[in-house]
Amino acid sequence: MTPRTLTPAEEAFVALADHCIECPGCKVDLDRPDDEIPECPTAEALYRAWFILWRKEVRR
Ligand SMILES: [Zn+2]
Repeated sequence: MTPRTLTPAEEAFVALADHCIECPGCKVDLDRPDDEIPECPTAEALYRAWFILWRKEVRR
């Protein structure tokens, strides 16, 4: 089977998801759901990178 090639936007999305799984700053604390979710600059940068690529792909 040939592995499906990810588009740049899909790769960026996977990178964002992988980061959020591993990053303690991105995990929501289920014991304290009323707490504000802390801002994670890395996640924000990954999200912006994904959004820019995604916008380019949907415009095609
Ligand atoms: Zn994070």
